[in-house]
Amino acid sequence: MLKTDVLIIGGGLAGLSAARALEGKKNYLISERENRPGGLAATVRKGGFHFDYSGHLLHLRWPETSKFIFEALGGNCARIKRDARIYAHKSWTPYPFQANLSGMPARVKSECVSGFLKAYNESRGPRAISRTQERPEVFSRWTRRVFGDGISKYFMLPYNAKLWQYPLERLTTEWCAPFVPVPGPEEIIKGAYGKNSEGLGYNTVFSYPKHGGIGALSTALARDLGGLRLGLEVERINLKKGVADVRHFGPVHFKRLINTSPLNEFIARAEDAPAAVQRASARLRHNTVYVLNLGVKGVKSDMHWGYFPEGLFPFYRAGIASNFSKSLAPRGCASFYIEIATPGDALDMASAEAAVIKGLKACGLIKSAGQIVEKLWLKIPCAYVIYNRERAEALPVIFDWLKSRKALSIGRYGAWKYSFMEESVKEGLEAAAALLKR
Ligand SMILES: Cc1cc2nc3c(=O)[nH]c(=O)nc-3n(C[C@H](O)[C@H](O)[C@H](O)COP(=O)(O)OP(=O)(O)OC[C@H]3O[C@@H](n4cnc5c(N)ncnc54)[C@H](O)[C@@H]3O)c2cc1C
Repeated sequence: MLKTDVLIIGGGLAGLSAARALEGKKNYLISERENRPGGLAATVRKGGFHFDYSGHLLHLRWPETSKFIFEALGGNCARIKRDARIYAHKSWTPYPFQANLSGMPARVKSECVSGFLKAYNESRGPRAISRTQERPEVFSRWTRRVFGDGISKYFMLPYNAKLWQYPLERLTTEWCAPFVPVPGPEEIIKGAYGKNSEGLGYNTVFSYPKHGGIGALSTALARDLGGLRLGLEVERINLKKGVADVRHFGPVHFKRLINTSPLNEFIARAEDAPAAVQRASARLRHNTVYVLNLGVKGVKSDMHWGYFPEGLFPFYRAGIASNFSKSLAPRGCASFYIEIATPGDALDMASAEAAVIKGLKACGLIKSAGQIVEKLWLKIPCAYVIYNRERAEALPVIFDWLKSRKALSIGRYGAWKYSFMEESVKEGLEAAAALLKR
């Protein structure tokens, strides 16, 4: 029977970062069910292309985590100025839509600007959202109150309905803070009738490995980790007894636990979780994202990624990864990632593929299907966790119980939130620091 001081479930960025900080200081074991480390921050090679699980760009905000990530990557990192766009009404306009209406037809522009000014003059309550807001509004109401009817109708509502696959009258807004920029009236008017405001938003400049895709970061973090074990899935756990049943391995006894696997799955495996905790966890919802990666020859666009609010396009976002790292595609080719969300239903991939090709032709990114030389579907079963009243009620119940068992649940899915890679790294480092302090 194996004994460890710290069991880490999951070798994504959160688990790997925690392990790096524990290495040489405390005995630990990472149990990762896949045969490779990295979780969603992984890169798959096929036919001379490197494909990520959709665009995975480093949006770095905090000095300590930035230093940790840059050190892990060594010199293998480039800083890149964002070229993100929106395609609507047969035109491209820079992201974010609300601050760059200039590319839209006159009728749409004036509906958006007048709707915004009306909403701005009538608006009561905070316009920007804080993550700690006690009683969050629902998205459909918030967007109309803050952006007005035009911007909501042409972008915010259709785009977010496509992405979240959940009724926007029930989606709450705690996630919006870093992700949805809220410009003032001057920026809206300037963006519609004058100079574009491309510099708005959380990701105006991003970092990305020069070689190897985002998987290069996970590979670097996993290097020389003595406690990393691949192909081992935690099937059952008992926090009270401090024991986990690991498939193909048997029981592992631990003193402390860091979970980074999806919270709802973790609770379902926790045999000592009280009924109230199980019930709370069963109320958590998420969407599923299918990523169609394409290797394409003869592409002219320099764009990094584009947002597609209109129903004609089955995807909510499409990006050209080789435009932020040439090494991802062979010479003369580009590597595309196309993201399609479902509420969890299986996707009919053959019809989706036909609709994707039609969409890429309609917006001018490709001329014909004959340009496609490679393809790879990747599925992200739990992609975006749903923010709703049920989540807000369930998380305190679950985390109070985990606290009573001295277990930590961190990362994008362990903490059940909409966060970036850097936040998973930060939480991994903080979890390790907390365990080392005791
Ligand atoms: C479509 C999409 C696009 C994104 N784009 C960006 C972006 O551009 N920039 C950015 O910063 N972030 C982006 N993210 C977010 C980013 O992927 C995550 O924040 C980060 O990779 C999460 O790391 P993690 O370690 O918390 O979780 P994960 O990567 O999910 O790692 C959890 C690990 O646990 C393992 N596991 C699960 N269950 C078990 C079990 N029972 N036993 C053992 N192992 C288990 C899994 O295999 C996985 O390896 C994006 C996410 C999505 C869905």
